[in-house]
Amino acid sequence: MTSPHVTIIGAGIVGMTVAYFLARAGVSVRLMDREETPGRGVTDRSFGWINYITRDPADDPAAHRYCRAAFDRYHALNTDFDGRLFSPATSSLLWTDDARQTLDLVHRHQQHGAAPRALNRAEFAKLAPFVINPPDYAAYCAHDFALHPRNVMAHYCQALKRLGAEMMFGRNVEQIVVQHNRASAVVIDGAALATDRVIVASATGSIPLLAPFGDQHGIIASPAVLITLEAEIPGFHGILCGPELEIRQLEKNRFIIAEDMPKNPTKTALQDLADQTLASVCRVFRGGKNPRILSVQIGDRPDSIDGKARIGRVKHIENLFLAIAHPGFILAPVMAQYLTDQVLGREDSYEIPTGIIDIQAYAV
Ligand SMILES: Cc1cc2nc3c(=O)[nH]c(=O)nc-3n(C[C@H](O)[C@H](O)[C@H](O)COP(=O)(O)OP(=O)(O)OC[C@H]3O[C@@H](n4cnc5c(N)ncnc54)[C@H](O)[C@@H]3O)c2cc1C
Repeated sequence: MTSPHVTIIGAGIVGMTVAYFLARAGVSVRLMDREETPGRGVTDRSFGWINYITRDPADDPAAHRYCRAAFDRYHALNTDFDGRLFSPATSSLLWTDDARQTLDLVHRHQQHGAAPRALNRAEFAKLAPFVINPPDYAAYCAHDFALHPRNVMAHYCQALKRLGAEMMFGRNVEQIVVQHNRASAVVIDGAALATDRVIVASATGSIPLLAPFGDQHGIIASPAVLITLEAEIPGFHGILCGPELEIRQLEKNRFIIAEDMPKNPTKTALQDLADQTLASVCRVFRGGKNPRILSVQIGDRPDSIDGKARIGRVKHIENLFLAIAHPGFILAPVMAQYLTDQVLGREDSYEIPTGIIDIQAYAV
């Protein structure tokens, strides 16, 4: 069988990863994005934490399993890129206000064969002496790491060029042409570009593109806030997720913090959020004095009405696929492997962890 030509709409972390997996497998790939530079959607506003500790296996065993599955795929990818995609084993510490709750979470993960460890107050203080008031217990995940969106995008771009992928940036896809239950082309600037398969990886930008094919896809925007700040926190390392802050270091004296979106996101509410974040940094960290906000950005996470990923074939259209998921950084390589197998007709070669649903099955 000759390799099909595949058009991918959206060059965020998901579309780029899918494009890389397909191009690496010898597929002829065209990657399109409406922005001039790839990765400037929600990918650029992401905290980029690769973890499974935030997926409680008791709440959603499937989500827990597929987030764990991502680790092996990422380590294999990092080998492809000679270790330049991310720095492994940054490690993370997660705790709540309730020590019993934290311990129970660790135990539930351990019961499912996962590896977080419970640290007591003294152990925590030794590992993170820069935290003023260590919790009684925290979950320590030695294998967690973070991705820097622009670094990852740059490496994928270079690799895709080398693999001969066609990259069309600054081009808005207006429509997907479907004839006789087959996607035959995508339309930009009123012109149709023919293709054999279409993969929609355009996050919340997929909603208008998919509207003509029915509203059963259930994709919704779930906004969150990324705050970048300057601060001196001597000795800070790792990824920290406590009741007050979810924070990691970007470079010397520069940190990012992920926050929930205020219910009513006015300019004043966002300013209040920034002020509270600054106060928290001073309260939580030793030496965290005189922090300064550099930016407050809102990113629309591509969530769904049931919280499940949208990956797989669209019902009734045999060559139209979706790759839309939150948390997209964690899931990108799992989705990419699944779609590569589907596009190449190797549907049985990779068992998709249940919980990532096939639209075809979902929509029945
Ligand atoms: C504050 C915050 C913290 C987060 N933290 C984490 C985390 O720790 N771990 C994690 O896994 N996830 C995290 N996320 C979520 C994560 O950022 C997203 O799930 C992920 O980036 C989604 O990637 P994507 O490629 O699907 O979307 P995008 O990056 O938005 O890519 C979609 C692309 O499609 C393009 N596009 C849209 N419509 C069209 C069109 N019609 N034609 C052409 N191009 C189009 C857009 O320009 C965009 O570049 C966080 C998000 C936020 C906001």
